[in-house]
Amino acid sequence: MSAAHDRQPLLASLPSVDELLKGPHGIVWLSQASRTLVVGAIREVLSAKRDEILKGLSSELSLQGLSAAINLRLAQLSSFSLRPVINATGIVLHTNLGRAPLSEKAIENVIAVSRGYSNLEYDLAEGQRGKRHVHTARILKQLTGAEDALIVNNNAAAVLLSVNTLSQGREVIVSRGELVEIGGSFRVPDVMAAGGAILREVGTTNKTHIQDYNRAISERTGLILKVHQSNYKVIGFTQDVSVEELAALGKKQGIPVMYDLGSGCLVDLKQYGIHSEPSVPAIMKSGVDLVTFSGDKLLGGPQGGLIVGSKEIIEKIRKNPLARAVRVDKMTIAAFEAVLMDYMDSGNVPVLQMLFQPLKTIKARAGKIAAQLRKYNDNADIRIIKDSSKAGGGSLPEVEFETYAVYINPMQISVNELEKRLRQGSPPVIARIRENTLALDARTIRDQEIKDLTRTVSASLTPS
Ligand SMILES: *Cc1c(COP(=O)(O)O)cnc(C)c1O
Repeated sequence: MSAAHDRQPLLASLPSVDELLKGPHGIVWLSQASRTLVVGAIREVLSAKRDEILKGLSSELSLQGLSAAINLRLAQLSSFSLRPVINATGIVLHTNLGRAPLSEKAIENVIAVSRGYSNLEYDLAEGQRGKRHVHTARILKQLTGAEDALIVNNNAAAVLLSVNTLSQGREVIVSRGELVEIGGSFRVPDVMAAGGAILREVGTTNKTHIQDYNRAISERTGLILKVHQSNYKVIGFTQDVSVEELAALGKKQGIPVMYDLGSGCLVDLKQYGIHSEPSVPAIMKSGVDLVTFSGDKLLGGPQGGLIVGSKEIIEKIRKNPLARAVRVDKMTIAAFEAVLMDYMDSGNVPVLQMLFQPLKTIKARAGKIAAQLRKYNDNADIRIIKDSSKAGGGSLPEVEFETYAVYINPMQISVNELEKRLRQGSPPVIARIRENTLALDARTIRDQEIKDLTRTVSASLTPS
């Protein structure tokens, strides 16, 4: 710690922005980045240094140190904040890592449509104004069996918009077992309130009967809502009411029934041995009026909220002024149309491929990663371990996916240090720590990422 009287000369010797700009490094910086960025980086570093000196945390000043700090800051300022990472967590629908990766076809279509102009709202056959929803509605009707369909910003918006359209100032009947919170900001009671509806809770946490719904119906009822419990499960002495029963009750009483399905899978997962998640077409067959689900969960598309169901209700929803506030843009529509097309023909959807790839494919990939790592690193214990992972994104919460992971025990640095270095690597690698070992789950690592992955891991294992 320096005494206060030592600080004045140090502060006085800090170079000015202009001096640094005119110095030898300044010329290089200005050749690499715009003046605004360079000046910004210099100002930030100088101000941080000034604070350090004032707090007595710094008692010396070197031009070299300042330049290095400015170099680093400039590199940070001129690179994108949002960038690709390697997902080595094994969680396919990782909400923090952007959920569903898109298919090549979807990516190509986004590029093609966004590079220039498009017929987003132009009817090419008639030569007049068209509607943006037509590009996805037809194919969604075919895939789900619904009369009509609409895509909005995300599923939270889909629920909000539907509830607001059908129940503003009226009651929405929901089972107490389904008043869920999904990832912090989506809580069923809050969404009802935001949609201007009055929540009418029925049943108990563990059991709700059809009579509970029946008794709650009055002239104030606008909607019966069923919500997929998504990320949690009530087990033991439980009962809920099936969609079929609710749909029949709604028909009898003349009240619309909606199912917020959350994940919403377009294909039958029974073919993969999963019986707990009914597909959207199966739900539509049960007779509900409306189903809402996410575009970037099991469907494997971009962020979006899909509303499928009765023609009459969807027409009403489209006319709600809120619909404009949550509408999707051309890039989203382009990606969805391609993903939905993939369902129509090849079925090649990356999310489904990653979730249901054969275990031996994952094992082979883990083997390849481990072999590469062993080749360059004798400073770590590297093993292949049979492991399990979750789908993520609140999807299929009860399903354990068998997987293989490369477990790394570094000898010269701590596991926490390794995890941190990987996260800050280029590209960043997001891994998990299990049993005090770093685990790289091969399920979510794409073959084309293995080279970058092993390079980042090898660079991180060496002590600095
Ligand atoms: C995930 C989920 C939502 C929110 O969907 P977003 O697309 O993330 O907005 C709403 N309801 C349920 C049941 C969910 O599982």
